[in-house]
Amino acid sequence: MKDLKNKTAIVTGGSKGIGKGIVEKLAKSGCNVAFTYLSSEESAIEIEKLSEKYNVKIKKYKSDASDFNQSSKLIENILDDFDSYDILINNAGITRDNLILRMDEESWKKVIDINLNSCFNLTKCAIREFMKKKKGVIINISSIVGIKGNAGQSNYSASKAGINGFTKSIALELGSRNIRCNAIAPGFIETDMTSKGDGKLLDSWIESIPLKRAGNVDDVANLCVYLASDKGSYITGQIIKVDGGLVT
Ligand code: NAP
Repeated sequence: MKDLKNKTAIVTGGSKGIGKGIVEKLAKSGCNVAFTYLSSEESAIEIEKLSEKYNVKIKKYKSDASDFNQSSKLIENILDDFDSYDILINNAGITRDNLILRMDEESWKKVIDINLNSCFNLTKCAIREFMKKKKGVIINISSIVGIKGNAGQSNYSASKAGINGFTKSIALELGSRNIRCNAIAPGFIETDMTSKGDGKLLDSWIESIPLKRAGNVDDVANLCVYLASDKGSYITGQIIKVDGGLVT
């Protein structure tokens, strides 16, 4: 179903994993997509080609979401290329896992910069257009570890908990302007980010998931399409878990 026909979305970190899945699902729903990447150039080129398959405009932008000036320039470029946009999905993220005893300052700062400060950068730069249109949708990709914490991920958990607070505050600030802001908190989703761990640990994680399977990128992307469409028009300020029942 083309629930997003004639809409345009911005997706950060659309070159791989969940972001790539979101770009494809949006395109399948009739949405034009401007997506960013940082290093996965070849993959980004392939994703642009989906534009013919789905008969929508898809364009890649190399832009570091943790850099405010690049984010501001990015929005200018997207407005030049697409005229306007309706949806912002803050998805770019990284992990630099370690126990706090071993974590260095750089790993702490980098994760906060890329996961959390990026949401400020893009949201701050993108909302002017939403205010003009008196309509907009922001979806932040958080994580269940932002709710429950995780040993070895204090930097990542803090960044995602920060996203949850940011999401609720933006929903409160901008609801009266008809701008909705929600976060999706995925559990264990199979992507490059989760393939780094040790096999036994991953198996034990899966065993603890009530639905007894890891999630896939479509599990997250389907919810993005729903929230971005008018079907989600009365949902704002929520942190919605997509985790197979792991955190109840
Ligand atoms: P992934 O496969 O490693 O992909 C990460 C994406 O972010 C890539 O497209 C990457 O682009 C981009 N990126 C990284 N740093 C960036 C930067 N500074 N500026 C712009 N783009 C940047 O990770 P994933 O598993 O799909 O994760 C996507 C999001 O879901 C993240 O926010 C993550 O925290 C969240 N999440 C994932 C899981 C999971 O189980 N996988 C669970 C909960 C939440 P390049 O490759 O081009 O650098």
